[in-house]
Amino acid sequence: MELFIIYIYINSKHNNYNQIYFIQNLHFWKNEMPENKVIKYFSLIEAWAWCDICSEMVNIRVNKNEIKAGLKMSIYTKEHKHINPYPDLEDTDDFSGQEHTIYLYINDNYDITGVKSFFGDSPSMSEVGAGIVEAGGEVRIPIVVKEVSPMSVQLGMLSIDEFKLLKVCDGMNSVQECAEISQKPIDKVEEMLVKLRKKGLVKVIKRTSG
Ligand SMILES: [Zn+2]
Repeated sequence: MELFIIYIYINSKHNNYNQIYFIQNLHFWKNEMPENKVIKYFSLIEAWAWCDICSEMVNIRVNKNEIKAGLKMSIYTKEHKHINPYPDLEDTDDFSGQEHTIYLYINDNYDITGVKSFFGDSPSMSEVGAGIVEAGGEVRIPIVVKEVSPMSVQLGMLSIDEFKLLKVCDGMNSVQECAEISQKPIDKVEEMLVKLRKKGLVKVIKRTSG
């Protein structure tokens, strides 16, 4: 990202259009950068993840051993409770000063593949998939009904991709979000969900977006 901006800056010296593009990007970059970032150190990662509730990047350090232990050949979900130290006091809709949770989905490469922010124990059903689907549209939310151990992969009962997908079917993600977090194409995810449903491991709840 920084290199990209420097590149545009160098080019902008010769070209007005690029100059505007550069300024727009810089503006966007400085004000709010919803793109999650990770710096990987020897024993830990430092993540900046966009919290929808804070409307800020939240800084979280996670020990690599914690991730390795939680991955189990899959995705690790890091739970981080926090409050926004600088909520907008004039905005009556800003509740970010109250404690809330951000979930980071971290893959085996220590990259963040998904982020969720919510109050309480989990996002409400009406929040899942909101923003992706138009009002009145259908949101499909896969939920694990039977936990499986990594052993089922070793025994050839599940593929590694199916196992990974199950891990993100935590009831907090729509089918599309599951595809993004597990970094698989949506048609592949749909295919796997059919198989997993037949095996009685997952159910897909349908909800109309409000
Ligand atoms: Zn927050």
